[in-house]
Amino acid sequence: MPPTSATTGSRPRRGEGQWALGYREPLNKNEENKKNDDGLNVQRRIIDIYSKAGFDSIDPADLRGRFRWLGLYTQRAPGIDGGKTAVLEPEELDDRYFMLRVRIDGGQLSVAQLRAIAEISSTYARDTADVTDRQNVQLHWIRVEDVPAIWERLEAVGLSTMEACGDTPRVILGCPLAGIDENEIVDATPQIREIYDTYIGSPLFSNLPRKFKTSVSGCSAYCTNHEINDVAFAGVIGPDGTPGFDLFVGGGLSTNPMFAQRLGSFVRPDQVTEVWAGVTAIFRDYGYRRLRHRARIKFLIKDWGAAKFREVLEKEYLGYALPDGPEVELRPDLQRDHIGVHRQRDGRNYVGFAPRVGRVSGAVLARIADIAEEHGSDRIRTTADQKLVLLDIADDRVDSVVAALEAEDLQVRPSVFRRQTMACTGIEYCKLAIVETKARGADLIDELERRLPDFPEPVTINLNGCPNSCARIQVADIGLKGQLVTDSQGRQVEGFQVHLGGGMGLNASFGRKVRGLKTTAEELPDYVERVLRRFLDQRAADESFAA
Ligand code: SF4
Repeated sequence: MPPTSATTGSRPRRGEGQWALGYREPLNKNEENKKNDDGLNVQRRIIDIYSKAGFDSIDPADLRGRFRWLGLYTQRAPGIDGGKTAVLEPEELDDRYFMLRVRIDGGQLSVAQLRAIAEISSTYARDTADVTDRQNVQLHWIRVEDVPAIWERLEAVGLSTMEACGDTPRVILGCPLAGIDENEIVDATPQIREIYDTYIGSPLFSNLPRKFKTSVSGCSAYCTNHEINDVAFAGVIGPDGTPGFDLFVGGGLSTNPMFAQRLGSFVRPDQVTEVWAGVTAIFRDYGYRRLRHRARIKFLIKDWGAAKFREVLEKEYLGYALPDGPEVELRPDLQRDHIGVHRQRDGRNYVGFAPRVGRVSGAVLARIADIAEEHGSDRIRTTADQKLVLLDIADDRVDSVVAALEAEDLQVRPSVFRRQTMACTGIEYCKLAIVETKARGADLIDELERRLPDFPEPVTINLNGCPNSCARIQVADIGLKGQLVTDSQGRQVEGFQVHLGGGMGLNASFGRKVRGLKTTAEELPDYVERVLRRFLDQRAADESFAA
């Protein structure tokens, strides 16, 4: 689907590196690496060479670049504090072990698949496992020697790490309740499957300007956050009364947060894969490749606007016009996280539960697989909030399943703090991190539960280890961005810049970053407690924290 004209509007700024405008020469090192060799080709070298000859045999361009195309990042070498993150060379931060991201498109797992991940964690990953806010599971301490065996184990159950990282179409988010929710607008599982089968691992889209995040969901609570994905298909009832999708492009957080723009078009379920490919191809062809920090699709649509983007999509890529469609209807009564026990439309129940900040382990995942099986379920789901859901639980097994999960400290009726606090990977493993996040997030939950046991309102508290936004700080009620701060004795210590009042859905806005609003990590629980107590003292009668 090549573009048919060199441009469709005013000429963009010189040298943005857009392929469609003739800029084919790589303009930075990342682009050069991608031109030198397709990231997908590293899979063969890992199997044939690196896994046999060991870490020291790995070509640096593969190690710090193409390995990502297969879901592998070197993890941070232990003992390097956050002050050194920006000043050391990348190789000085590299450990000889890897983080491995298993993509779980739509968040859909069977018992056998969850067991496979659990076994890999126990056998090869020192029992580590984190459920991410993009429905993946990440493992740590992976040796390159073990990667082929891990891939074989994953492949045997239909899972993979293909394009889990890198400048590629990453995991496709989907509602964990797809196909079973009473309120669902449309089940997007076939569309997620079709995009995955057709395009993931295809050289057509293995060299995008940057990462590319997709959500396809018919959830009436809009749980996969269409506002902050590069491309999102969000369920609506179309003009003719049949279900389909409202199309959004260009959402993303990180250092230049932008909400996705609505194109205003209605996409029928049978058109989703083709429209997805069209949007992805526009990104590939017109996306900015000169500067990495301007390479996400949000910068292109910000410059073009939604109307021009839609015109290019329809005229150059689809060859037909999409009809105008209705806008998503956001409902204030539906929380997006699917926690708790709720009725499915077939009369059985789903049970959503919360580990602390997504951190589990191989042993815990194995136990969840056992609990599912013992209670007649073969369907486990991950959510976009670092949580999990068991489907298909009969009425007379609900109490037993809740008791079994809670015995593992997997809370089905969690406190507001356990339910809505997320943390990114942080300094424990991430080379970009400045501060520790996972343990701090877990401690913060425990402290707030102890200090404010009856806090009455939902409040999201998200912790990031650096200015990137893997844990969505800009759309949290209280967003905590890791950085070094000066403590009362004048020392540089780990701490957080505070963003207040962010949200999605009906209250979509980015949190306000107030100058000087910082806390040391040590004082974090005191700081958050003060903010929450002040809210309780000063709020109007029915005011929520997000209002
Ligand atoms: Fe790493 Fe920063 Fe992302 Fe946290 S937000 S996982 S520290 S890159």
